[in-house]
Amino acid sequence: MPKILVVPGDGIGVEVTEVSVSILRTVGERNGVEFTLENDLLGGCAIDAHGIPVTEETIEKAKQSDAVLLGAVGGPKWENIEHHLKPERGLLELRKQLDTFANLRPAIVYAALADASTLKREVVEGVDIMVVRELTSGIYFGHPRGNEQLGGGESKAFNTLHYTTSEIERVAKMAFEIARKRKNKVTSIDKSNVLESMVLWRDTVTELHERQFSDVTLEHLYVDNAAMQLIRRPADFDVMLAGNMFGDIISDEAAQLTGSLGMLPSASVGNEGAIYEPVHGSAPDIAGKGIANPIASILSMAMMLRYSFDMDGAAAQVEEAVRKVLDKGYRTSDIYEEGKARVGTEEMGSLILGEL
Ligand code: NAD
Repeated sequence: MPKILVVPGDGIGVEVTEVSVSILRTVGERNGVEFTLENDLLGGCAIDAHGIPVTEETIEKAKQSDAVLLGAVGGPKWENIEHHLKPERGLLELRKQLDTFANLRPAIVYAALADASTLKREVVEGVDIMVVRELTSGIYFGHPRGNEQLGGGESKAFNTLHYTTSEIERVAKMAFEIARKRKNKVTSIDKSNVLESMVLWRDTVTELHERQFSDVTLEHLYVDNAAMQLIRRPADFDVMLAGNMFGDIISDEAAQLTGSLGMLPSASVGNEGAIYEPVHGSAPDIAGKGIANPIASILSMAMMLRYSFDMDGAAAQVEEAVRKVLDKGYRTSDIYEEGKARVGTEEMGSLILGEL
């Protein structure tokens, strides 16, 4: 009996998660799987209820669950709060406690929405990329870090980029395993022509590939070249594997190919659990209006089916239902074009459910 902790959070997080959960229940019924769902607070709503953005009890519940389905956190109400109590700290703490070392960010260009991209339709059509980013090490966490006064008005600031073999191996293993469920190709991104840490990155990925994943096609690209190729021939990529900083940049570049924030799902997967959440925030400007696009949340739920519960068939059905509704011309306001049918959050959910 898969156990899921549902954490809608704040703003449109609540609205889009409600839609995903209703679709999840239907998927469960259809597939004879009984999901056990429990709701909890995170972010601003947790600050209002408990004075802190995440309680230990919530973290414990997340650890005891097979997956966490999250909405979004934050909003103007909590903006002027002390830094360590901000809504986002709750999310960061949850990720830390679940040791989510891999961030999965798919970027799919739907034929019906290809014109929303800033690139030409013929370049982006058919794009279906999964960026696998290392999330808990690399230069964002490396020590020593800091700054020094050198005297004479001169300052020095520094950060350290380091990786260990096991840190590289666990995220690379995930990338290879994901590639096997997709088009069987991994592009590993590094800067091994300049950085020692990236020589270790490339050697470790190559060695793991030879040892366990020789059936998967592996290519290596320097990050500068990868950034260029991603806008030149994006449809050639399948899984893109990168360290924390390069993955941060590449995943946003890949996201931009698709043109809409309301369509982007993500997952953070770790040793103690996995969190599935839309890339977008709580969108205070449209919260409560019933117009938010629920697709990013629905696709995050589909990722949960695939990666936490091995329900690949059910995940593909949800993704196909989304595609069909878009092909039929239904659009929420954020992806609306003239001549299409404008629908709200709930209606978009019902249409997708209808296609299932
Ligand atoms: P945002 O993603 O909330 O919104 C950016 C813009 O995109 C807004 O105009 C919004 O209306 C629109 N948008 C976003 N998602 C949409 C959807 N599903 N449907 C339709 N339109 C959508 O980013 P922001 O405005 O920079 O941040 C708002 C709040 O969310 C802040 O408190 C921020 O800290 C927080 N935030 C949280 C997360 C998270 O929970 N993971 C991520 C980003 C921002």
